[in-house]
Amino acid sequence: MQALIGSVCARKILDSRGNPTIEVDVTVQEEAGMVIGSGKAAAPSGASKGKYEVIAFPTGGVGAAIEKVERIIAPKLVGMDCGAQEQIDGLLRELDGTPNLRRLGGNTTVAISMAVAKAAASVMNLPLYKYLGGELVDKLPYPLGNVLGGGAHAGRGAPDIQEFLAVPIGAKSFADAAFANAQVHREVGSLIEAKDRSFTGGKGDEGAWAPNLDNLDALNVVVHACKRVSNKLGFKISPGLDIAASSLYNQKKRKYVYKREGKLRSTGEQIDFVIDLIKTYKLLYVEDPLHEDDFKSFALITRKIGKKCLICGDDLFVTNINRIQRGVKSRAANAVLIKPNQIGTLTDALKAVELAREHGYVPVMSHRSGETSDWTIAHLAVGFGCPLIKTGVVGGERIAKLNELIRIEQELGETARMGELSWK
Ligand code: PGA
Ligand code: ZN
Repeated sequence: MQALIGSVCARKILDSRGNPTIEVDVTVQEEAGMVIGSGKAAAPSGASKGKYEVIAFPTGGVGAAIEKVERIIAPKLVGMDCGAQEQIDGLLRELDGTPNLRRLGGNTTVAISMAVAKAAASVMNLPLYKYLGGELVDKLPYPLGNVLGGGAHAGRGAPDIQEFLAVPIGAKSFADAAFANAQVHREVGSLIEAKDRSFTGGKGDEGAWAPNLDNLDALNVVVHACKRVSNKLGFKISPGLDIAASSLYNQKKRKYVYKREGKLRSTGEQIDFVIDLIKTYKLLYVEDPLHEDDFKSFALITRKIGKKCLICGDDLFVTNINRIQRGVKSRAANAVLIKPNQIGTLTDALKAVELAREHGYVPVMSHRSGETSDWTIAHLAVGFGCPLIKTGVVGGERIAKLNELIRIEQELGETARMGELSWK
């Protein structure tokens, strides 16, 4: 039976910040024209974007993107075999013709790419994770839970560091892990209230609390909450951070600017500061401890502390195999954040996962700070075999992914296992 793309239809929808983004529907039909499958996917958007990411939308924004889908992309895709993912993703790149996808927009191409995969899975009557990963996939990722935040995701007074994370590494199931993160989030809320009587309960873009605390007070609260919940539940919950250091770095001053603390840190001071935090608080995970051009310092910090702690590159790698390759050469970082819309197609995101794994780096599937209720990345984490996923703790657009992973875990039944977290 032939399964051909029958239609590609795009629309403008809201993201979690109320900004416009793109959603795409793809239908599949037999040669005779009967519809035999469909897939829907939406693209997210970042607030602390990496400078080397693909461009999200063409000039003219979502409206222009939709017009390009109708005029340029759909006519080429209609009639193609929906299972030819690589070929379709290659064609999207070719139609754009620029390395950073600025003509069509990486959000346009990624939404189409994901919708095509979902449509192809539906034709085969398979859930997306099995379509991508095969019948034998059985591993769930540990969720990295953003419980307290600042930086580009929150308003004035919040910490300079962007994300304070809980990693429920001792959980025996995904559901236990997700609920543990929710408990840590609640506990963090109570501890902030106890510390600051005037706390209004404000949250940042990803649903993490955004208190008027400095970095160390905030970290103490999170570490304390992790310990409390861990004792209650009887399994280990480690703390982690996304420093998002590119947002702190001032190119002219060549310093990391901690506005709230009123401190400037040179590269050396930044490295010492981060290593000290990792040791003192036994952090299991630190993302972007240095800015996106500093492979050398990433390598240094990884050499010094990378056995104990995951050092993850987000803005450093931007899900791009050329940048990951460059990191591998000097052993910069030991984990790679995977954000499909940073690179623009599913095929390129999978290549990034494979390259990371081949070199002993941990692939970490991730949402963006601006999200929709689309749950595709939940399936990508399982299908691609990522042992970690960063997708928030609370809020509709975050629980869309968490609840989908709970469903996947139930569907896998007895065979379901947590991912293996090891790195070189
Ligand atoms: P974003 O960043 O705001 O660009 O999505 C989130 C992150 O740094 O992980
Ligand atoms: Zn990040």
